Amino acid sequence: MPADTAHTRRSDMTDGETELKRLFALQKAAYAQAPFPSYDERAANLARLIRLLEAHEDKFIAAINADFGNRSRYETLIAEIIVAIAGAKLARNNLKRWMRPRGVATPLHFLPAKSRIEPQPLGVVGIIAPWNYPLQLAFAPAVAALAAGNRVIIKPSELTPRLSEVMKETVAAAFEERDLAIVTGGVETGVAFAQTPFDHLLFTGSTSVGRRVAEAAAKNLTPVTLELGGKSPAIIDKSANLDAAAKSIAYGKMLNAGQTCVAPDYVLAPKDSLDQTADAIANAARILYPAIDTTDDYASIISDRHFDRLKALANEARDRGATISEIGSSNALHPQRKLPLTLIIDPPLDLGVMREEVFGPILPILPVASAEDAVAHVNKGERPLALYWYGKDAEARDKVLDETVSGGVTINDSLMHVAQENLPFGGVGQSGSGAYHGEAGFVTFSHMKPVFYQSRFASGSLLHPPYTEKTGKLVSLIRKII
Ligand code: NAD
Repeated sequence: MPADTAHTRRSDMTDGETELKRLFALQKAAYAQAPFPSYDERAANLARLIRLLEAHEDKFIAAINADFGNRSRYETLIAEIIVAIAGAKLARNNLKRWMRPRGVATPLHFLPAKSRIEPQPLGVVGIIAPWNYPLQLAFAPAVAALAAGNRVIIKPSELTPRLSEVMKETVAAAFEERDLAIVTGGVETGVAFAQTPFDHLLFTGSTSVGRRVAEAAAKNLTPVTLELGGKSPAIIDKSANLDAAAKSIAYGKMLNAGQTCVAPDYVLAPKDSLDQTADAIANAARILYPAIDTTDDYASIISDRHFDRLKALANEARDRGATISEIGSSNALHPQRKLPLTLIIDPPLDLGVMREEVFGPILPILPVASAEDAVAHVNKGERPLALYWYGKDAEARDKVLDETVSGGVTINDSLMHVAQENLPFGGVGQSGSGAYHGEAGFVTFSHMKPVFYQSRFASGSLLHPPYTEKTGKLVSLIRKII
């Protein structure tokens, strides 16, 4: 690297870190001054965010398109802008109810005291976002954190620099820095961000970086929500309508060219219909994207490095003699890093494509003999972020639901559980911990503080020393009623 490039990079990073320090100190001070923003203030922040998303949607769409090389306007609208706005509206409409203390039952022998859970803002929250849905995965957690009354700093990915600049500019124009701010910079800024003693940190990204973020946060005992990745299976049961399942899998896999954390990573299909499954998925893919090289509907792979990684995964499978079928490929130059859907039929399990999260349009299809077999396959790997099951046989479905553990599930479709704002969204085990969306997000970013309100008619002092025969009688009575 030329000396001046190295120098420029270093000073950039320093800028990011300096800016982070300044913003964190400023937000901490603001929190100390006003630790419990009112309903009106929080609702105003949510309304501000909705306006920001609506007013600048064309700028966001153009910036994401430029960062990717190509990303359809409609994909950005459907999977980013509308999702973020829907989350913010749901939060605004339910905020009063979410903020209310929750009464819980108080045992008979403590009556007439009262027990309540009182949601309280945590303070200053950090959000680290990835590049694949760079707007939604920055703003949707921010919605939850702002609703819960926190101050928020977002660090977007260095792989979406244009969008980061637009977010920075629009947020700075709409919000006070003490409420919401964006800090940009390279990996060094990310490292410094994870080391910052936030009151809560939400990280969305890969499992390997998530582990590093969790380690850094542990030094401060900063609680973390980890939204990670993993290998999400799509299980086609014998009882499934194959064409409908194939259509749903092709859509889920090709949206954003497979660069979706909850995309079906691989398919488990009945072993006697492996070829029909591959054909049905191929047909569905051709209908969705008749010409991937030329259509604006199909997204580019984010960078040359990611493109080369995916090519290497497919090449390894080819070199090992796996059956591969590229759908809609031409051998053109892929000027915009467009990669065709690549089906790999029954690959050996030691291939890269079966060991790591694919995160692109390569789809291994494996044979299974039964629901037990599918469950055993899933349970051999790490717990996935999502699981998809297709079929009509309720017994087979419930077996898979009961005996596998995944972040979330959609039955008879792909991706859709993530769009349900009232369902918590998060991983489990290696695919993450904690959750957000809807009320779950409000709870994640609140301290759900237990408060016991003693009554002036309290009788607890009857149990204080000096202990007498009366104490013994009272203890016997309590033992009967607990
Ligand atoms: P990544 O882990 O490479 O990067 C995520 C973020 O972490 C970026 O902002 C990056 O700058 C930052 N970062 C990098 N190194 C860091 C460090 N040492 N300390 C702190 N921050 C650091 O992930 P990515 O490539 O941007 O995204 C792809 C991955 O994210 C996939 O594994 C995908 O499954 C996962 N993902 C998960 C979800 C979810 O909601 N569960 C959503 C989208 C993506």
